Amino acid sequence: MEKTTYQNLISELEKQGAQLIAVSKVHPAEKIHTAYDWGHRDFGENRAQEMQGKAEKLPEDIRWHMIGPLQSNKVKYIADFVYMVHSVDRAKIAKELNKRAKKADRNIKILLQVHIAQEEQKFGFDEKELFKFLEKDPIEKYPHLTLCGLMGMATFTENEEQVRAEFQGLKDLFNQVKEKYDLGADFKELSMGMSGDYPLALEAGATMVRIGSKVFGPRPKK
Ligand SMILES: *Cc1c(COP(=O)(O)O)cnc(C)c1O
Repeated sequence: MEKTTYQNLISELEKQGAQLIAVSKVHPAEKIHTAYDWGHRDFGENRAQEMQGKAEKLPEDIRWHMIGPLQSNKVKYIADFVYMVHSVDRAKIAKELNKRAKKADRNIKILLQVHIAQEEQKFGFDEKELFKFLEKDPIEKYPHLTLCGLMGMATFTENEEQVRAEFQGLKDLFNQVKEKYDLGADFKELSMGMSGDYPLALEAGATMVRIGSKVFGPRPKK
């Protein structure tokens, strides 16, 4: 974990108008604190209880981003403090998040995760489900959530053309949604790109990249 690698990445992203979500999953809180001391505030985790445990130990002005698949019975662990949930992939999760946010008297930013990869096991709405969700007027329905955009993960492959096409497809879908629904100025984020493919995501218009190993080094084996 090198400060210069981090700084170079930040300036590369700034030029492209994209924000770094530093994916700290599996890494200990101390490492997050090091990046915090470099000035970083946005961190991504993929497990609710792990995020909760780290949030308790770390400064309160960290913005925590949930990027992993979320079960509705785990929402309670993060609803009091999570800044943005990138991985909302069904109405049930939105409903539970809204309920818990209301209880905590706060607002939670969300992205809708869209399935763009060819791999079976990747989570997310398919296009049809996405439009069905949006037809039901999510802004009215979930007053304690702010719908900020879309998130996606490309297929894990060496085939750059395929990855590029998947990111471009998500960008096109984002534009389509923006045009068709009155989601306001908050709907502006496109979260896509990881350590291995973020340059392709930036090309396609990512506004947030979720990068772990390039910032923190390889993840320790559990
Ligand atoms: C782990 C993870 C990342 C970051 O992966 P790296 O390859 O370490 O950059 C990004 N997005 C999601 C959803 C992840 O689970």
